[in-house]
Amino acid sequence: MERKNAWTGRSEAELAQIEAMSKAYCAYIDAGKTERECVTVSEKLSQEKGFANLADCIRENRALAAGDRVYRAWMGKCFVAFVLGRHPLSEGMNIVGAHIDSPRIDIKQNPLYEEEGFAYLDTHYYGGIKKYQWLAMPLALHGVIAKKDGTVVTVSVGERDDEPVFCITDLLPHLAAEQMSKTAKDLIEGEALNVLIGGRPLEGEEKEPVKAGVLKLLREQYGVEEEDFLSAELEVVPAGRAREVGFDRSMIMAYGHDDRVCAYPSLAAVLDFEGVPEYTLCCVLTDKEEIGSVGATGMDSRFFENIVAELCALAGEPGDLALRRTLGNSRMLSSDVSAGFDPAFAQVFEKKNAAFLGRGVCFNKFTGSRGKGGSNDANAEYIASLRRIMDDAGVAFQTAELGRVDVGGGGTIAYMCAKYGMNVIDSGIPVLSMHAPYEVISKVDLYEGYRCYCAFLRDAGPVEG
Ligand code: MN
Ligand code: MN
Repeated sequence: MERKNAWTGRSEAELAQIEAMSKAYCAYIDAGKTERECVTVSEKLSQEKGFANLADCIRENRALAAGDRVYRAWMGKCFVAFVLGRHPLSEGMNIVGAHIDSPRIDIKQNPLYEEEGFAYLDTHYYGGIKKYQWLAMPLALHGVIAKKDGTVVTVSVGERDDEPVFCITDLLPHLAAEQMSKTAKDLIEGEALNVLIGGRPLEGEEKEPVKAGVLKLLREQYGVEEEDFLSAELEVVPAGRAREVGFDRSMIMAYGHDDRVCAYPSLAAVLDFEGVPEYTLCCVLTDKEEIGSVGATGMDSRFFENIVAELCALAGEPGDLALRRTLGNSRMLSSDVSAGFDPAFAQVFEKKNAAFLGRGVCFNKFTGSRGKGGSNDANAEYIASLRRIMDDAGVAFQTAELGRVDVGGGGTIAYMCAKYGMNVIDSGIPVLSMHAPYEVISKVDLYEGYRCYCAFLRDAGPVEG
């Protein structure tokens, strides 16, 4: 069952559409390098497309009807958008979902210190990273500092050409004999990931003068004191924008493709939908996937269920039973990046069931590790209906699992949505160098992802029992 390369036989018009989608995507991820920034951009795009804030509708007790477009952000870190359909909500929704948090390095609560004339921020990394990959490269600092008076200062330093960057230093090879004999996982300890943020003493300051100099700048630029780090969320990410890869410019290298390369086309497919859909459309963008979907903004929280309950009530179907029917009758594409087959590491893949860059969007019936552990195993009947939708729309798709049996594996948010009894499958776009500071995707897969979500949202086929 060979799947052909999705670049072949493209018309000039299609190639132009692939480029346009890539440009729009790069603008989204350049502006959204953290979950908070992704929510801000998503909210702006939704407003531009005429979506109303569900929070306003709730406050005004505004009745919602077919064709209405609403969104809701939760704690500034997750986001849901809906287009209401002709059928009652309790007949189910067509849901596309992805996560907008990415592996990174977070700043500790009491982070600032000085040592031998350098000022540093102490960190605790977030998600599954290979720590050594983050050394000796330009880093940017993004996030918020919440102050006791209720104001929240937004921070973004290291992205513009006229801004400084930060870094975590590495050891010169000449003195690294002992370091180089360690295994990669021990090459640098988590506690040693300290971000260099200053090197000039404050004039006339005796005690920790470099740290004092940094604090003076923070006070002047942001109006914050050292104590304010206690209530900050600051994230260290690779500095720089998304770039095209290859002489043929067929790929994109960027920070955080996992999972914004699924989040963006999922959101765009809902925002771009014209007219009134048969079934209500929903896009859910969630946080904390990289650390187990925990917390109030992770998929294991009830934020999504709560928002759907509000929607049901305003659409004239209040109550617990209507909510349960709405969720239970829904169909979902739970999208997350797939491990793209990499010839450099062929031994960890099983080629017949691997995802390849350039062969379109990928469906994973099951993920999990070592005996499907922790997997959402999508229903065969549901997959058959997806095959029909994709083939009818001419969407390039492939099927895969994550690596060879017993080699590894991983899970995403599908199994949490499956708790409601809905039909849900892991799907997504293949990526190379997953979880590295810079990851690689193919432009044509992004485009086919978007077409896949559009076709799925348009479909009014029977709801599987
Ligand atoms: Mn992911
Ligand atoms: Mn991930």
